Amino acid sequence: MIENRNYHVEAIILKRRNYGEADRILTVYSRERGKMVVLAKGARKQTSRKSGHLELFSVVKIQLAKGRTWDIVVQAETLLYFPLLRQSLPRISHAYYLAELMDGFGAENNSDVRLYNLAKETLGRLNGDDNLLRVSRFFEIRLLYLTGFQPQLYLCRACQAPINEGISNYWSAEAGGVLCPDCGAHTANAVTLSAPQLKLMRYLDRHSYRMCQRLEVNNALWRSIEPLMQQYIVSILEHRLRSIEFLQRLRQQAAREEKPRQLPT
Ligand SMILES: [Zn+2]
Repeated sequence: MIENRNYHVEAIILKRRNYGEADRILTVYSRERGKMVVLAKGARKQTSRKSGHLELFSVVKIQLAKGRTWDIVVQAETLLYFPLLRQSLPRISHAYYLAELMDGFGAENNSDVRLYNLAKETLGRLNGDDNLLRVSRFFEIRLLYLTGFQPQLYLCRACQAPINEGISNYWSAEAGGVLCPDCGAHTANAVTLSAPQLKLMRYLDRHSYRMCQRLEVNNALWRSIEPLMQQYIVSILEHRLRSIEFLQRLRQQAAREEKPRQLPT
């Protein structure tokens, strides 16, 4: 019996890079298998039927064949293209940011439908919504929650005391969230977190996107929480990258130590 090794996934195209003469390597986040790296052969040829269906940030249905290093795109069909997103540089830059975070936090061979849906809905909002800062902040806080990295917004990360949201506190990316005034004053790199900033973060954390759309918040406040969230995200990604490197070093070390035993005596 011949096994049919082709399979289908629905996926968002996060990254593309050229490979060889005419091929492309795509990083996608799929509904069925989480993050994947796949090979689109001949995708850069004008005549390729596949090329029109493999645009960045689009939602595609792709048929894949098992490959040695990467699985290979056999057929592709665009499900969502987000045309308005592509006509605006600010919208595109937010979409690149989404793609970076999905690549950084998404795991291979680990399907997370909620994360997939969040990214798909966020691209839809980046295509149509006027407040891009709100779209990206909401995306960040949900992504962090879904991947288990949510920042602490309610208790001091140092002394565990409940945080009073009526006064200024501190924010520490390294500590993992909010610090009370006493602890924050003695923590290196902690920055002031104003009462409105904390209230906005808590609101995003606790409410649906539809509720967040009704919130009347000025742009300056939306903009002010951007560096706080991004410092936090960068510190997690750096930590993640370090732990991946650490695991790789351990494996290499283990492999080196095993070798002498495998040598013939
Ligand atoms: Zn404290």
